[in-house]
Amino acid sequence: MISEELFERACKVIPGGVNSPVRAFRRLERAPFFVARAEGAHLWDEDGKQYIDYVGTWGPAILGHAPKPVLDAVMAAVPKGLGYGIPTRVEVDMAETVCRWVPSIEKVRMTNSGTEATMSAVRLARGYTGRKYIIKFEGCYHGHVDSLLVSAGSGALTHGEPDSAGVPAEFAALTIALPYNDEQAVRDAFNKYPGQIAGIIVEPYPGNAGFYLPKPGYLEFLRDITAKEGALLIFDEVMTGFRISPSGVQGKTGIVPDLTTLGKVIGGGLPVGAFGGRREIMDCVSPLGPVYQAGTLSGNPVAMAAGLAQLNELERTDAYSRMERLGAHLEEGLRRILHDLHLPLTFKRSGSMWCLFFTTQDVYDLKSAMTGSFDMFRPYFLSMLEQGVYVAPSPFETGFISAAHTEADIDATLAAMQVALGKI
Ligand SMILES: *Cc1c(COP(=O)(O)O)cnc(C)c1O
Repeated sequence: MISEELFERACKVIPGGVNSPVRAFRRLERAPFFVARAEGAHLWDEDGKQYIDYVGTWGPAILGHAPKPVLDAVMAAVPKGLGYGIPTRVEVDMAETVCRWVPSIEKVRMTNSGTEATMSAVRLARGYTGRKYIIKFEGCYHGHVDSLLVSAGSGALTHGEPDSAGVPAEFAALTIALPYNDEQAVRDAFNKYPGQIAGIIVEPYPGNAGFYLPKPGYLEFLRDITAKEGALLIFDEVMTGFRISPSGVQGKTGIVPDLTTLGKVIGGGLPVGAFGGRREIMDCVSPLGPVYQAGTLSGNPVAMAAGLAQLNELERTDAYSRMERLGAHLEEGLRRILHDLHLPLTFKRSGSMWCLFFTTQDVYDLKSAMTGSFDMFRPYFLSMLEQGVYVAPSPFETGFISAAHTEADIDATLAAMQVALGKI
């Protein structure tokens, strides 16, 4: 097995053999597969095995892998130089596109990752309000920013370390972690720290502890209480932006945040993040204002070309209605399988984002998500992989459908699920 040989080499020179922890398959007690190439909804590993992919680069690959319009844009950009650290036309095109798609964003600054975007947005919220506390929610993941690695989801959760070593208690003390979907907890926090909370950062549809949804009225409540208390509402739409709708969760729900963070889809597969929002707030960012934020490679022309081509292609095609149709097909088939197998497991979906929880309880926060059984997930995952379907290697991650998936891919996936769920 070439993948196993590569993993052995990797483990000698890279911590855990991977450059981001969820890739390591550690709790699954097997080596990850190494990808040789990808196209559309499919991956091929170094051993020549083919997979239908529901990880989609963890979100960015909304058009599938190696989409021609994005590749063409990159190929056209590359010969002009890989970056200059001086303004370029494509950065203006990108910023105008983001502001047009996401109306709450009047000005936007590009970064190189989602982590940089959330880090900068939190700094900006503190700088703008002159306050120090930030509210986040348990199980929400906002990248590996020191002050946000408190009760965090994603790989931190998969590996049982929602709080990281190396984050001094003094840093974490400025972060108030509360249960998602619990209005009283938020009211209590504002009562306990009057006039001291700079903002709330939230994944409006949380996708890093599995995927679940806000209760009716919850996002409206967060909007109202932050406005009333003079705190900023930050929607972390790094995962949901340009995915749940062309303008993310805010477009679907009509809730208007003060600041938004973006990543994943916006880069077309290259390393891009962004944060933006109301003009008066964004004007506090340097060089206009006192909140420092910068990046040698920020707004890189090749990355901007890739991201812009992906957004243009999403706008030009029926990608969103297509992904909704495919998602509904997957949901309908999976619910039938669960019913036939007498497995009343919890399933959540919105458009192209979905999660099968290995629990029979409803899931609406971290605590309920954690009732999912890893012992049931493991045989399911390994069987899916064996049958050539790659779902996220953790029960606490979101599944992603791309516009490149076909009805035949979904049918093959359902056939594999029938077998895999029969084994748990
Ligand atoms: C992926 C993610 C991040 C971090 O983005 P990186 O590009 O991995 O740094 C932040 N917030 C959310 C909601 C994410 O899903």
